Parts: sequence; C-alpha cells; structure tokens
Amino acid sequence: MKLRSYPYTLELRHAFTLAAGSRTTTAVMMVEVEQDGIVGYGEASMPPYLGESQASATAFLSKIDLTKYPDLFLTEGILGDIDSIAPGNNAVKAALDIALHDWQGKKMGYPWYRIWGLDPSKTPFTTYTIGIDTKEAVRRRVTEAGIYKVLKVKLGGENDREMIETIREVTDKPLRVDVNQGWKDRGFALRMIEWLASKGVEFVEQPMPKDQPDDIAWLRAKSPLPLIGDESVLRLADIRKAIGVFDGINIKLMKSTGMSEAYKMIAAARALGMKVMIGCMTETSCAISAAAQLSPLADYADLDGALLIRNDMFSGASIVDGRVTLPEGAGIGAIKL
Ligand code: MG
Repeated sequence: MKLRSYPYTLELRHAFTLAAGSRTTTAVMMVEVEQDGIVGYGEASMPPYLGESQASATAFLSKIDLTKYPDLFLTEGILGDIDSIAPGNNAVKAALDIALHDWQGKKMGYPWYRIWGLDPSKTPFTTYTIGIDTKEAVRRRVTEAGIYKVLKVKLGGENDREMIETIREVTDKPLRVDVNQGWKDRGFALRMIEWLASKGVEFVEQPMPKDQPDDIAWLRAKSPLPLIGDESVLRLADIRKAIGVFDGINIKLMKSTGMSEAYKMIAAARALGMKVMIGCMTETSCAISAAAQLSPLADYADLDGALLIRNDMFSGASIVDGRVTLPEGAGIGAIKL
C-alpha cells in the first residue's frame, strides 16, 4: 500500500474574478493510492478563500498512515478516521476520498455511476461560467461558450446590471446567477432578483453572506426566483442550516470532503425537498470526473472547472453538446496523460 502526493498549480485560461477578488492560478494537491498494482487518483483543489494550501495539505497528509488499513474497501472507517484527524481540511480529505473510490472502482472493474446504479444518459447540461469582467471580455466569453446551453454569470461586483445587459445583447440562453455572497443588503438583493427574473435568469446562488441566514430567509420568502446555497453549505451537517433559507444546495467535492459524503448530502437534500446542483472549483479532469459520477442524481451541474484551465493533466468526463458526458473507465474514469 502506497500513498503518494505532489503539488501542482493550475493555470487559468482567463483571470477569474468573483465578488471577493481576482486570480490567475489555483493551487492543487494530487494524491495517488496504490495497492495490488492498481493506482487510484485523487485531487484537492484549494482556492485561497477556503483557507487550505499546499502546505496545509502536505501537513495533513503527513499524519495519515494508510498501511493501517489492509482492506481499502472499508471506507466508512478509513474516511471517518481521516476526518477525525483535524477539523476543516475538506479539500485534502476529498483528495483521499476520491483516490480511494478510484482505486475501489478499478479493483471492481466498474465506474462509480454503475456501482451506484445511475443512468449515464441522465446527466444534466453543465453551465459555463462567465466571470465579472469588462463588456468586451464578457461578449467574447459568451461567444466562446457556443456549445453550452446554459450560462452561469458571476455577479456581486460593481457592474451587475451591465454584465447581464451585455450578455443579453449577445444571447438569449437561460442564465444562472452566482453572487458569491456579494450583496450585503436584503432590500437591494430583492430588487436585483426581481430585475433578474425579467431577464431570463433561472435561479440565484448565494445572494448574500453566509453569516446572514435570517436575511437570506427573508429574501427567499419574497424572491420570484429559487435560491441555491453554496458558501453556506459545505458538509452534510450544514444542510439543516439551509432549511427555510435555500430552495436547493450546490454540492462540491472540495467542500463535502469527497464522493462518499456528497452522495449522502444528495439523499438528505432530496429528503428535505431541495434541488441539487453538482458544482466544482477550478480542477483537473481528475476531480471533475469524480464529481461527474454523481451528476445523474443532480438537477443542475456546474462542472466546467477543467475547461477553465490550460494545463489539465487528466482526461475523463467531457462536455458533449453542453451535456456532462461520463467516461467509460472504471473508478472515476480519469486517465493520467
Ligand atoms: Mg457558487
């Protein structure tokens, strides 16, 4: 049994601007688990605002001794032990979870969507993300997004109305809006959502800060559009905080600690009548392929993370005519290039 890891830096195709700031790279940590001649691949993507880094991931991984676990199928126990080492560290926990799932699937000879009994023809369309940018750049990005049926627009900057109006000059595709906690005033947020509803927007993700749940609940009661929680809901135990606050949740492996907990989150959200979105960070096709295995269970997908980088070192889940398309390979189906 071997556990290997190495840092990698994703180079973004376009500077990525959200309500919180702008960046051109994303730090990741790649993880490999090897036993019986089979290698399972995993990845931690660590955008700086989530607080993890290659240094914190290295420190966390140094505390793990997988040789204690001769049976790598006992993931409930293994992942529980890993989770109890320290709080947080969700992305590096996800990397280990993904690598273990990849190893297990390869050992069994099936991709995870088949192990879970999911129909690969039921994958959703994915959105393609348009970051906060100048009018010219927004027009260019929308034109580049030809094959995508739905666009995700980042708002919460200084020019929200201009962003939407510029996109509407170029396309009438359905839009989904992600504010990334950018609106601080609930009255302003409500006026914006009412306006967005008249512009062909389907829903609004994380309109206000996660520490203002009462304001978001007020907004939801009046909003003509559904609200989806992202920054407010990281893990399974956070879903109870979304009751009465959001109509659905955006589940990302890097927040949930991986595939195992993400699967449980989908079940919990369904039990509460919530919509489910599968999202991502900027990631290689390794972590994207892992998330894609769950996508037939989702109402919405935002799995464009590997398309936003220049130096993807894996192939795997792809986007065909705008739809998430699952790879046929066993495990997570990602192939190291
Ligand atoms: Mg979001």
